[in-house]
Amino acid sequence: MAINDNLRHQGMRKKLAEGLKIKGIRDEQILEAIRKVPRHLFMESTFINFAYKDQAFPIGAGQTISQPFTVAFQTQLLQIKRNDKILEIGTGSGYQAAVLVEMGARVFTIERQKELYQKVQFFLPEIGYHPACFFGDGYKGLPNFAPFDKILVTAGATDIPEDLMQQLKIGGRLVIPVGNEKRQEMKVIIRLSDKEFKTEKHGGFVFVPLLKGTVNF
Ligand code: SAH
Repeated sequence: MAINDNLRHQGMRKKLAEGLKIKGIRDEQILEAIRKVPRHLFMESTFINFAYKDQAFPIGAGQTISQPFTVAFQTQLLQIKRNDKILEIGTGSGYQAAVLVEMGARVFTIERQKELYQKVQFFLPEIGYHPACFFGDGYKGLPNFAPFDKILVTAGATDIPEDLMQQLKIGGRLVIPVGNEKRQEMKVIIRLSDKEFKTEKHGGFVFVPLLKGTVNF
């Protein structure tokens, strides 16, 4: 694939990062990743006018690429350090996974829709990102690869899956939007010890739902 990423795209990303900074994203590492990852290549059509607005966008299969602010906000809550081992639930377009890889994390990502999983599995390496992609039900996490430093859920959950809590390292953080279909509260669950967890709340968001099972086409 010829990668169409030029100075104009880079300029638009710089502006996007400036906007996110104004909206409260202060972690320079995150802003640098936003300046680098070519978001326009993650969309169905390469409508650059939409790619670098701070908006969610449809990616097919009834799913969306999250709004850049939401990606940056969840990433900020994760407190990423280089070499962190991270599990993402809801690969979608692969954009969030690419941002995490760009920040030096080791990323494992799960998608329940085969169509999206297949697309991302080929697309991300083409543009230089190599997370480990899995097809499956993220509710269960990845027990064979646990424990993780951080777990990120990028779909709205009605409850906090116990399996994900158990796959966190001590001191690890789970970032998950929890609520009903219309609105979810951003929660951070911190594992203090084997049995103790602390919960923080970080405001309202709207995500596509976290669903059980897989879609095989
Ligand atoms: N992180 C994505 C945004 C994804 S939208 C991005 O950067 O583009 C949420 C995604 O979660 C959708 O693709 C949806 O199919 C997926 N999803 C929903 N429930 C899931 C589950 N139980 N396991 C894995 N993926 C799930």
